[in-house]
Amino acid sequence: MKPEAKRIQNIPPYLFARIEQKIEEARERGVDIISLGIGDPDLPTPEFVIKEMAEQIKNPVHHQYPSSVGTLDFRKAVAAYYKRRFGADIDPKTEVCTLIGSKEGIANINYCYVDPGDINLVPDPGYPVYGIGTMLAGGESYLMPLLEENGFMPDLDAIPEEIARKAKIMFLNYPNNPTGAIGSIEFFKKAIDFAKKYDILICHDAAYAEMTYDGYIAPSIMEVEGAKDVAIEFNSLSKPFNMTGWRIGFAVGNPKAIATLARYKSNVDSGAFQAIQYAGIAGLNDMEPTIEYLKTVYSARRNIMLDGMSAMGWELEKPKATFYVWAKVPKGFTSESFAEDVLEKCGVIITPGNGYGTYGEGYFRATLTVPEDRMAEAMERMKKVYGKLEFE
Ligand SMILES: *Cc1c(COP(=O)(O)O)cnc(C)c1O
Repeated sequence: MKPEAKRIQNIPPYLFARIEQKIEEARERGVDIISLGIGDPDLPTPEFVIKEMAEQIKNPVHHQYPSSVGTLDFRKAVAAYYKRRFGADIDPKTEVCTLIGSKEGIANINYCYVDPGDINLVPDPGYPVYGIGTMLAGGESYLMPLLEENGFMPDLDAIPEEIARKAKIMFLNYPNNPTGAIGSIEFFKKAIDFAKKYDILICHDAAYAEMTYDGYIAPSIMEVEGAKDVAIEFNSLSKPFNMTGWRIGFAVGNPKAIATLARYKSNVDSGAFQAIQYAGIAGLNDMEPTIEYLKTVYSARRNIMLDGMSAMGWELEKPKATFYVWAKVPKGFTSESFAEDVLEKCGVIITPGNGYGTYGEGYFRATLTVPEDRMAEAMERMKKVYGKLEFE
């Protein structure tokens, strides 16, 4: 067989490979592992969504090919949600594209706009799909460092003029994975002005817009006037409805970019299973009770983790959104050596920050996707091993 395509060869080696091997070894030794590793909700999809699915799956209309852009009913439910929740006017006919999970759209938008040699502005640390998607399309990432001293927001003024002129897409993601940072309307306005000046498509990833705590409500970039001139927003039912396995998301915003994404998709996939779209409609039309419940669950777990970490010497603000805690590794450790140490000595999985980019080195990410008793147990184990830690 001839070698793989360069774009595949160029995908960097999987950073968690070593840790995965350690997890495997620990499991074989019979260690009771607590995983604060993956960002995948542990709770089931709400009953009313499952019920709707059970009904819809019987309808033979849904057994045929769906349209790539999604049913008009689903797109209308998305537009109604954006109006109700964000006060944003979204035309369901031209400004919504249904996705097979938002990851699909985030990867595919690169094929719509990026030619070999083009540049995308990519946050670092960040969700790996922005940079890998850019690379798969032959583009190059210009990294926008998300630094703690800037509240994990990119410094748009630090982007060199010639890079900004050349850039095709700017990826943004607030509330942010992995840092848990929150955005603001002011920042979105600034980003839109920047994108208008340099003719850049903003792709904002709002996957965690509903996972917020302590009364904080996350904005959509679509709340900003003129956003639709330069921006699309990716969103997903995965996190608010514990539906990561179902694969249903959507993009809204600039009609030209939405049409282009739909055109690309119509040539490579055949859309999301329609029964899932209708189950998704049921969810979107009755979000509040599920969201309120999840907020209570995650914030209680977060408090247990943060109290435990604070007793060990971490000085952290409680994240107001996402289900991630992003923290510095103690003195004498790298991201990877600390993750390995915690796994080895405590049987607790955390992810090394450098897995999310160069600027993630020196940090780790821990998720809130285990029940309270397991979270408390994880903190107890760490306290026993580390006592009081020191930091650089
Ligand atoms: C989980 C997540 C998504 C959602 O992915 P789906 O493909 O919709 O399941 C998107 N962006 C970020 C940053 C995420 O963490």
